[in-house]
Amino acid sequence: MTAFARAAAQVMQQLQQLATISQHPEYLDRRYLSDEHFAANALVAHWMSQSAMQHHTDAAGNLWGRLSSGTPDAPRFIMGSHLDTVPNGGKYDGMLGVVAAVMLAKLLDEYAVQLPFHLDIVGFGDEEGTRFGSTLLGSRALTGSWPASWRNLTDADHISLPQAMQNVGLRFDDVRNAALTDTDILGFLELHIEQGPVLEDENLPIGIVNAIAGARRFEFRVTGMAGHAGTVPMRLRKDALTASAKMIVAIEQLAIEHDIVATVGQIKNQPNGVNVISGETLFSLDIRSGDDMHRDKVVELIINAATTIASQHSVKLLWRQTHEAAAVSCDASLQSLLHRAIDSAGYSPLYLPSGAGHDAMAMAQICPVAMLFTRCDKGISHHPDENICVDDVEVTLQVLFETLILLSKQHTVNQNAAL
Ligand SMILES: [Zn+2]
Repeated sequence: MTAFARAAAQVMQQLQQLATISQHPEYLDRRYLSDEHFAANALVAHWMSQSAMQHHTDAAGNLWGRLSSGTPDAPRFIMGSHLDTVPNGGKYDGMLGVVAAVMLAKLLDEYAVQLPFHLDIVGFGDEEGTRFGSTLLGSRALTGSWPASWRNLTDADHISLPQAMQNVGLRFDDVRNAALTDTDILGFLELHIEQGPVLEDENLPIGIVNAIAGARRFEFRVTGMAGHAGTVPMRLRKDALTASAKMIVAIEQLAIEHDIVATVGQIKNQPNGVNVISGETLFSLDIRSGDDMHRDKVVELIINAATTIASQHSVKLLWRQTHEAAAVSCDASLQSLLHRAIDSAGYSPLYLPSGAGHDAMAMAQICPVAMLFTRCDKGISHHPDENICVDDVEVTLQVLFETLILLSKQHTVNQNAAL
């Protein structure tokens, strides 16, 4: 058994152990600023100690560990992900990126590899946003971008964010102390399960994320005329539902043609009676791409198509945007290091966008970011059936180890060139 295989088996075992820390007796549920959040931090901190790392918790409740460089005033390279979960979540989403990184530090220590930078590993306290409704609280504390309005966020038990912080010995007003102001951050590399079926379909254990998709969401309101199902002839109808159905099919068609993901996940129909022609339909649209311009072009095509369908059906169409987030590009240089590391491990490097949001999105505000995806079973996530295999974790560790070695060499070359 190789050292990477042994380490992968240990990572899998640690993830099982971490998954026992839950605020719900029957399923995994670990939310920001709960007792379980800090119990998870304590367990991971224990593993950090075993990996020769110093650890501390920051003003936002994020856990930090450092594998110190041989050079005291060295810059830092950050790895990590989140330790919170959704209710009834899986054992790997977020946690893999923290636990595997801590194991990587252990391997570096065992092999006496001296990095020319400090390796900092962060376990974010909140990414999912399941307690206070806003996502990325952990990583956004690092970027110093907590809006003052978050003072008013409350959880389902009406506990405010400042109160929840106070309950665990943190202060809302101190969160600015968690912001990273250093200018010497070489980058942030987040390992995460794919949460989709692409790697499995390609029969690959890992993939390089080239961009984190930006999303736009819309609400479409189609207004026709309700009427009697038996008395209004087909040619005289203003049926909001059939018009909406055609619009939804057009959205799917345009998404396929333009290689983008677009989803109508919600529909409301009025009056929704078996013998009544539909008078009004509301439906949602969620559209995502790693390329904002491409996404916006497809949005325009969708709106044009929907407008045409509305006029053919003599119904009124109104639409409004309810959400917009820009895509985040991953750093080209870090991507090329991942590419070389995957190549030397004997796998073909596949690039894919991340359709889901991640901590790396926030981190991109302060440093170059990259992400590596590990294949997950059937693409299932946010579900207790979420699963990964130990062999893929082995490849993942090997590739990340090699990536850090390549980064060290690149950094040393750059340093020498600057002298
Ligand atoms: Zn996640």
